Amino acid sequence: MKRNLLLTPGPTQLPARICQVLGEPIIHHRTPQFQGVLKEVTEGLQYVFQTKNDVLILTSSGTGGMEAAVSNFLSPHDQVIVLEGGKFGERWTELCQMYGIKAHVIKVPWGKAGAVSDIKKILGAQKEIKALFVTLVETSTGVTTDVRAIGEALSGTNVILVVDAISGLGAVELRTDEWNVDVVVAGSQKGLMLPPGLAFVSVSPKAWALAEKSTCPKYYFHLKAAKKAAQKTDTPFTPAIGIIMALNESLLLIKNEGIEKLWARYARLAQGTRAAARAMGLSLYADPACASHAVTAIQVPSGIDGEKLTKIMRDTYGVTIAGGQEELKGKIVRICQMGCVDEFDILTGIACLEKVLHEMGHQFTLGSGLAAAQKIYNQK
Ligand code: PMP
Repeated sequence: MKRNLLLTPGPTQLPARICQVLGEPIIHHRTPQFQGVLKEVTEGLQYVFQTKNDVLILTSSGTGGMEAAVSNFLSPHDQVIVLEGGKFGERWTELCQMYGIKAHVIKVPWGKAGAVSDIKKILGAQKEIKALFVTLVETSTGVTTDVRAIGEALSGTNVILVVDAISGLGAVELRTDEWNVDVVVAGSQKGLMLPPGLAFVSVSPKAWALAEKSTCPKYYFHLKAAKKAAQKTDTPFTPAIGIIMALNESLLLIKNEGIEKLWARYARLAQGTRAAARAMGLSLYADPACASHAVTAIQVPSGIDGEKLTKIMRDTYGVTIAGGQEELKGKIVRICQMGCVDEFDILTGIACLEKVLHEMGHQFTLGSGLAAAQKIYNQK
């Protein structure tokens, strides 16, 4: 059987210890044993989110958490701002529209970061804005948003800051409380190194106050109900027990390494990927000023079919990287540094990319990408 190296921005590779826990017999969720785990994972999540706020656990993929972040704090006809620089920024707009919320959309060119001045302009003209929705790591373009600067711009206003950190939590710096972030949404299958199936939502007191006035319909994704259950170390519905047991392990791995060390490790991995791409004569898609450490988007050279490139890497050599989405289909490839990935995984990914690009006719010196990445990884 061929090895399958997963260098995709979700799901990410699972550590062996997580696979072991996932293989254990299930326990019942209304037991002291599970309650003990729920308590521990909530504290562990607060550490990873860098918050003292409530962190609620929902059984769904990340988008369920995004939907909850729209339907629980707002009401139809409310006005919000969406910073939209890619496919996942667009999801915020679509969700708001679905609930009859008026979204003032700031369209950021793909691959670039949004400007705080654009946000301030709308806030100055529209006094009724209730929330601002942003994306920590726009997975479709490989851009990290400057959430700290946006949080500063909103401090002292009535506007809540809602961050989609589904990509990026645990991989790139995010300081929920210090940066004035009211609601953070995350998912299990990326930086937390778990299978998909859990969403997490942190909620500040300012956001809870807004939730009191929200009239959008909600049933399964009802955060007040989730909070009420959490206060009794419980969940309103049957949770994904197995993934929560494994979450406890992944949070332990993160805590043992230390969140800041983890951010630095991913930054170094990404530096290696970027250096390799440049050495191979490839252009990076994201503006260097905002290129994410979680995922690196690399432009496919003209004349080479990006979809074919990723397919050969996966089917022939067992290395899975992501292609581009929507307008970037076939035009970029994305290598993920997030999750259970080390420098040798990245080097394998680069070696495979070199091999297939060479086979497909791209002119460059074989080994140049590997040498450039090695140079970064060998720096003390
Ligand atoms: N937001 C971002 C930034 C993402 O990367 C993803 C998943 N790729 C989502 C939202 C959607 O998450 P899910 O597929 O878990 O619903």
